[in-house]
Amino acid sequence: MTNINNKNLKLAVQKEGRLTEETLEFLRKSGLEFESYKQRLFSTCRNFPLEILYVRDNDIPDYIASGAVDLGILGQNLLYEKRPKVKKLLNLRYGFCSLVVAIPKESEIKDIKDLNNKTIATTYPKSTLSFFEKNKISVKTILISGSVEIAPTLGVAQAIADLMSTGSTLALNDLKPLTKIYDSEAILITNEKSTLQELKKILLEKLLIRFKGVLSAKNYKYIMMNAPREILPRLKKIVPGLKSPTISPLAKGGWISVQTVVKEDIFWETIEKLKQAGASGIIVLPIEKMIL
Ligand code: AMP
Repeated sequence: MTNINNKNLKLAVQKEGRLTEETLEFLRKSGLEFESYKQRLFSTCRNFPLEILYVRDNDIPDYIASGAVDLGILGQNLLYEKRPKVKKLLNLRYGFCSLVVAIPKESEIKDIKDLNNKTIATTYPKSTLSFFEKNKISVKTILISGSVEIAPTLGVAQAIADLMSTGSTLALNDLKPLTKIYDSEAILITNEKSTLQELKKILLEKLLIRFKGVLSAKNYKYIMMNAPREILPRLKKIVPGLKSPTISPLAKGGWISVQTVVKEDIFWETIEKLKQAGASGIIVLPIEKMIL
């Protein structure tokens, strides 16, 4: 077995769990090449001085805060709960979920105030207690580390506070959300007081360019369209980023091909406006990376 190269940057990721697959996919999209067998404790990237360590996500905040590991990818929920001394570098736009307070479907509880003096089962006691304290409601928590949904049925709690993404697990267990405590997504963290040596700082900058390139690409789509040359000023008004589009003449006299990028969140309304303005043959391509 090869050893960890301590000159390389070290990045801790979740070994097995909800974030694992998307994290490895994100790293591969960033152009990093590595093997990831389930039994492995770490893998060394072939084309970047980076060691990827596979650990329990609960341990990531401590590894980073202590300086044993340079970087970590984990759910923001763990930072809210553990409040370690780490610094967030990037939101990674996956692993979306919310910490919610949920109650049995048939419960008489209608409002969070009805939870006064009640017991809430959760894996996130600090986040839960601070939410209720802020709302001046007194609750007790019982710490459950898995399958929190069963607690109300067992009679040990009147409500739960748990992570939810689609809500289907809650519904399957005859529970319904009452209120949200916070939203969470996967994030990249480093030490609060960066203990990185100069060389590692340079490597981190290079890695961040790759990560940001993948993230920017997620927010944009590349579009190509044909249009009569005279409507170009109208097209430019519709796509604000279309200040210097790539324009090539078409064989059909007076027609041009226009290429540009459009923001994902206004994508469909932009396409409709472009069509109304007279653009045709619109082709949309995903962008793999976008280095700004
Ligand atoms: P797990 O693999 O269940 O330990 O979850 C790992 C991380 O995935 C959590 O800490 C959250 O950041 C994230 N996550 C995303 N959606 C959910 C969900 N519905 N339930 C639990 N965790 C979720």
